[in-house]
Amino acid sequence: MSYIIEGKTGDWEVVIGLEIHAQIISQSKLFSGAATAFGAGPNTQVSLVDAAMPGMLPVINEECVRQAVKTGLGLKAKINLHSVFERKNYFYADLPQGYQISQYAEPVVGEGTVVLDMPDGGSREIGIERLHMEQDAGKSMHDQDPKRTFVDLNRSGVALMEIVSKPDLRTPEEAGIYLRKVRSIVRYLGTCDGNMEEGSMRADVNVSVRKTGETELRTRTEIKNLNSVRFVMKAIEHEAQRQVQAYDNGEEVVQETRLYDSQKGETRSMRSKEFAHDYRYFPDPDLLPVELTEDEVEAIRASLPELPDETKQRLMDDFGLTPYDAGVLVAEKETVAFFEAVVEECGDPKLAANWVINQMPRELKRSGKSIENSPVSPQNFGKLLNFVLNDTVSTSAANTVIGIMYVDGDDPVAIIKDKGLEQITDSGEIEAAVDQVIAGNPDQVADFQGGNEKAIGWFVGQVMKSTGGKANPKMVNELLRTKLKG
Ligand code: MN
Repeated sequence: MSYIIEGKTGDWEVVIGLEIHAQIISQSKLFSGAATAFGAGPNTQVSLVDAAMPGMLPVINEECVRQAVKTGLGLKAKINLHSVFERKNYFYADLPQGYQISQYAEPVVGEGTVVLDMPDGGSREIGIERLHMEQDAGKSMHDQDPKRTFVDLNRSGVALMEIVSKPDLRTPEEAGIYLRKVRSIVRYLGTCDGNMEEGSMRADVNVSVRKTGETELRTRTEIKNLNSVRFVMKAIEHEAQRQVQAYDNGEEVVQETRLYDSQKGETRSMRSKEFAHDYRYFPDPDLLPVELTEDEVEAIRASLPELPDETKQRLMDDFGLTPYDAGVLVAEKETVAFFEAVVEECGDPKLAANWVINQMPRELKRSGKSIENSPVSPQNFGKLLNFVLNDTVSTSAANTVIGIMYVDGDDPVAIIKDKGLEQITDSGEIEAAVDQVIAGNPDQVADFQGGNEKAIGWFVGQVMKSTGGKANPKMVNELLRTKLKG
């Protein structure tokens, strides 16, 4: 996949790296026992540690460490048995400690790999630089009062994983596929719910451009806090264009932090980029280094569920699905679970894949539901496919039935009976309809017998019409050919 921006001074390519902040699924915060549930009233989930009261000491939440290690293993990454929490110092109203506890020189997870499933069926490997644990900050609320800003500390101290990619991504689309893939992996693992609307997953995007053929990286900018795949892709497009224009006009690109304005569809400068030394990182004297043993890591490895890449391979091996179909099915763990239950019912994986990939999302969208609260059970979905397979209903009638199942109740048997959609496979009944059409249209019969074989389609159409679309089209076709030729 190539993505080239044609500038006035030549062709440019885009170099992209992502920093994903993923909230760790955990009952309590990284260094306190306060709850982490979404949507609670402001400042109702704040311990004295999270409010940075003098003398309060952080205590590491071991479950969060296990979750970070689990994620590292899911990213095929090196687990560091020794890692260190450091203080990242900066001043902001929603950061009561005056520093964020993060990991810097010695993160818990090192280099790894994520495999992207490309739309053409191929794949691409993207490097992971590191994964570290850190605490989230609180939230400043500027829209509550005309003159004052309020602070909600519910998020203060919530455990995050920051997953940093290498600058291996080259197109906005790849960045979108990468973000979706990481989201899929953490959701399979159960280490982050991946809910971008609720802020449990956000991405910072590093973008630079360079002339095609250049090997050195040029200055990058960082676009902060993007909370949807679409915004990530849009922000990269705009920022890359802006940089190319700057270079074309003889200007420099400065290292800075930028914001994406989704209303205006542009990025704008937020602050000049701070360098690592601006934060005066140093090991947090309140916390011991995190020490893991090989045995602990192996125990976590043994608990890993099947991950998307493995499930994809299994669907290809066991069911003969194409890489593309298998990739679509495994993207959401709920979809693949639904698919497997449908196959169990109807026994035809290709037909099931086709319907779960095409009809299911269409009907869910139409009925305003999601797969988590699907109004149709996979058993009844599979039952309908069985009726297609044994010719009880035609494919077009089945499409009508599924539309009703998602809105009015999911029993295909009742719907088929109620709407009289059962396919006519009784040869006597079909023969009568065929005879009637032949007898009533001598001109068309002469036309067909005179050599216009294509006229068969017209006859099939007439028979289908006279049976209310319920005759088995294959039987109609065969009978017509025999009778017209005879
Ligand atoms: Mn961070």
